[in-house]
Amino acid sequence: MTNTHHKVALVTGAARGIGLAAAKRFLAEGWRVALLDIERELLDQTIKAIAAPETALGIHCDVSDPKAVANAVAKVGEHFGRLDALVNNAGIAIFKPLLETTLDDWSRVMAVNLTGPFICTQAAAPLLREHGGGAIVNITSISALRASTLRTAYGTSKAGLAHLTKQFAVELATLGIRVNAVAPGPVDTAMAKAVHTPAIRADYHDTIPLNRYGLEEELAEAIFFLCSERATYITGQMLCVDGGFEATGIGLPTLRGEGRNG
Ligand code: NAD
Repeated sequence: MTNTHHKVALVTGAARGIGLAAAKRFLAEGWRVALLDIERELLDQTIKAIAAPETALGIHCDVSDPKAVANAVAKVGEHFGRLDALVNNAGIAIFKPLLETTLDDWSRVMAVNLTGPFICTQAAAPLLREHGGGAIVNITSISALRASTLRTAYGTSKAGLAHLTKQFAVELATLGIRVNAVAPGPVDTAMAKAVHTPAIRADYHDTIPLNRYGLEEELAEAIFFLCSERATYITGQMLCVDGGFEATGIGLPTLRGEGRNG
C-alpha cells in the first residue's frame, strides 16, 4: 500500500478519451488515480504512456460485472488505502433508428451506461465513507436533455443516469458523499468518431452557440472541480459542459446566415 495522505480517484473508462483526460487532471493535482477499463491492451498502453507507477494504477474490469467491480474496488483499497472520488465515465454509444434498435443493443447500453454506475457506486461508497466521504461524478450527456434522433437507448440511459445522480446525492449525503453529473456536449473522442457522421456533426453545430466540439480537457476541468474542495456545497447537480446546447432553442443557423432561403 502506498502513502495514504494523497487523495485517490477511481475513473472508469479511463483508457482513453474523456476518462483519460480526467485521470490526467487528477494526477496533475497530486492525486493518486485508479484507471479502470474493459479494454485490457489499450489500458496497458495508457498506463505505460502515463509512466507513473507510484501514482497511476490500471485495473481491467467491465463496469457491468458486479463481481469484477467489487474486486476492482478492493484492489483500489489495497493499493492506495483510501478513495476520495469516483468518476462513472465508462459508456458506450449505439446510434440507430428506433425500429432498428435491437433488444441486445438496448440491454448492453443500459448495462454499461446506467447499471454500471449503479454497481460502481454501491461498491465504492463504503470505501469513500471510510475516510470521511468524498465525491462522485457521473458522466451523462446532452442526449439526456433532449430526445435527439438515433439515441433511443443511449439518450434514455443517460437520462436515467441524470436521475440516478439525484437519487445518489440525496441518500449518500448522510455518508459525506456528494454526487453530481457532468453532461458533455460533443467531444471528438473515439466514441464520437465512431457514431458522428458528417450530417450529425453539422446538426451539432446547428444547436451549439459556441459552434464547435468540446475538448477532453474542458470536460476534465469540470469533473475535477466537482470532486475538489472548491465544490463542497454542491450535490445533486448536473453541470452541462456543452457550448450552450442546453440553453438553445431554434434559430442559430438563421442568425449565422446559414438558414434556408425564403
Ligand atoms: P470513448 O469510447 O473514447 O471512451 C470510453 C471508454 O470506456 C473506453 O476506453 C472504453 O473501453 C471504456 N468502456 C466501455 N465500456 C466499458 C465497460 N463496460 N467497462 C469499463 N470500461 C468500458 O468515449 P468518450 O467520448 O471518452 O466517452 C466518455 C463518456 O462521456 C461516456 O460515458 C460517454 O457516453 C460520455 N459522452 C461522450 C460524448 C462525446 O461526444 N464524446 C458526449 C456526451 C457524453
